[in-house]
Amino acid sequence: VESEPESPAADDERRIVELFAHRQPLYDAATVRRLTRTPPEQLEVALDEGHVEPVIDGGRLRYEWEDVANLALQRWTPREIARTLERAGHAHALPLLNQFRSITIELPVYQIRLLHQLAEEKSEEVGALRSVSDILEYELAALATENMAALEKRFAGFVVAALFPKLSRAYHVIEARCLYCGGRVADGAEICPACTRRHVPAR
Ligand SMILES: [Zn+2]
Repeated sequence: VESEPESPAADDERRIVELFAHRQPLYDAATVRRLTRTPPEQLEVALDEGHVEPVIDGGRLRYEWEDVANLALQRWTPREIARTLERAGHAHALPLLNQFRSITIELPVYQIRLLHQLAEEKSEEVGALRSVSDILEYELAALATENMAALEKRFAGFVVAALFPKLSRAYHVIEARCLYCGGRVADGAEICPACTRRHVPAR
């Protein structure tokens, strides 16, 4: 009896888990294409433009994990990768500050419409569905790299997170901290009392 063909989503989950939860220092070209679903011609373009720089290992071209992860980040959003790893039980394959959390944000309706419009434009540009979360993540990622040194002083691990997947070997698991300020929290709490008062809308 032939087994059911796996859904594309299950295939993607296996690729993402293999790349991020079972990372190897070096990959051959066939594995890079399989894991990141990058067509050969697109890999050529990435090579020509210097987005990936293969190394010679044992006389053969190999790709470093960081380059492969960057190709994966062209295929899937950071949110898709983080949520996929979480569903598969590998949330901690990502540094803590690269994992995703849901928060409630209050905005005027015209800004919500703006975010929707930007999400539609981005979806058309990349040929895949993008949400308002993806738009905010994309815009804030650029802002995050502007004042990294100062932010690192306040939030340990900020630089590694903002530059992910670059430098990501340097990360380590940090004890439970407030989601917003990174300060200490009581056992089992995710947000400190001061940040709850400031950021969490009253119901
Ligand atoms: Zn706090």
